[in-house]
Amino acid sequence: ELKQRVAALEKEKKTFPEVKFLTYKDRKRILITGGAGFVGSHLVDKLMLEGHEVTVVDNFFTGRKRNVEHWIGHENFELINHDIVNPLFIEVDQIYHLASPASPPNYMYNPVKTIKTNTIGTIHMLGLAKRVRGRLLLASTSEVYGDPEVHPQPEEYWGHVNPIGPRACYDEGKRVAETMCYAYAKQDHVQVRVARIFNTFGPRMHMNDGRVVSNFILQALQGEPMTVYGDGNQTRSFQYVSDLVNGLVKLMNANYSLPVNLGNPDEHTILDFANIIKNLIGGESKIVHKPIMQDDPKKRKPDITKARDYLNWKPQVPMMTGIKKTIEYFRNELQRSRHSERN
Ligand code: NAD
Ligand code: UDP
Repeated sequence: ELKQRVAALEKEKKTFPEVKFLTYKDRKRILITGGAGFVGSHLVDKLMLEGHEVTVVDNFFTGRKRNVEHWIGHENFELINHDIVNPLFIEVDQIYHLASPASPPNYMYNPVKTIKTNTIGTIHMLGLAKRVRGRLLLASTSEVYGDPEVHPQPEEYWGHVNPIGPRACYDEGKRVAETMCYAYAKQDHVQVRVARIFNTFGPRMHMNDGRVVSNFILQALQGEPMTVYGDGNQTRSFQYVSDLVNGLVKLMNANYSLPVNLGNPDEHTILDFANIIKNLIGGESKIVHKPIMQDDPKKRKPDITKARDYLNWKPQVPMMTGIKKTIEYFRNELQRSRHSERN
């Protein structure tokens, strides 16, 4: 098994060609909170390849060392096991603040901790940005729009969130995190950037995090029933992770400080999405309906005019291309877990 692991690591290393060399002047010290998670680890790859010094802070609640282990030992990389609910003192130029559980079952598992991470944790990161005179980018979410009454959602829309529902710990946590960013910007001149991220998928999503993409792909690969919640007429718009990561870096370095939607406007009903995955994978899975979760947004689609105008950004990866890559990833993960079960 060790040999296989080494071979897998070698293969992964080959997928990262040379890390660029940046002179001291251009090299930034970058902190990524939640950098061992799904999105964070792809951001680590991009910034490391660009030649920056990257520090990841993660408490490994939903993240895994495995997502970033190919960088361990690289002189530009540091991994710190730390919970951002506690203060952190380091010297950095930029902070990508991603630490927070992101999938509904994960953030509902311990709502109080979700609130603490998004409130106290965000205060700590803003305090750090203030002390080092750095710039902070908050990974906010389309969930700030709640169950929207405006479609598609532009950044000016204030949202429609149930403040005491089961999703509130996350939705309101992110809303107050945004409020804190602009309070620190106004009062203490902290430079802030706010990305409102729409549903994102790709390799390194957790196998069992309960989000629709991972659920459907795993269910179809294993010939199990595909669980559509409710009638499946609710919609989502899915973006591939590399598009998001490019958008995050563009936003961090842009001259625009108000919130920006990052998402792919390619909108599908969940039932349609289940059929797309079923047809791509083939197999025997049937689609079954389960009760819908309380406050599940009925539709969601980003208006990305601002990202286009201010960042010159738009998604590049078609959904089918992204889905095929993600299916391949989950196929390998399943093989891997079967292999470790056998041994
Ligand atoms: P993820 O669960 O894979 O990553 C979150 C990371 O934060 C994990 O590594 C976790 O261990 C870490 N973390 C959680 N609480 C922490 C704490 N108290 N201290 C330190 N580390 C902590 O989720 P993701 O999909 O990569 O999401 C990353 C960010 O993007 C989150 O802030 C999420 O709200 C936001 N976002 C993601 C999506 C999406 O579709 N993936 C959509 C909207 C917003
Ligand atoms: N969903 C589903 N079956 C599943 C998981 C999710 O039908 O096995 C639905 C869920 O009800 C929601 C949509 O898929 O309408 C997206 O859910 P997800 O948890 O991925 O993220 P959300 O956008 O709700 O935060």
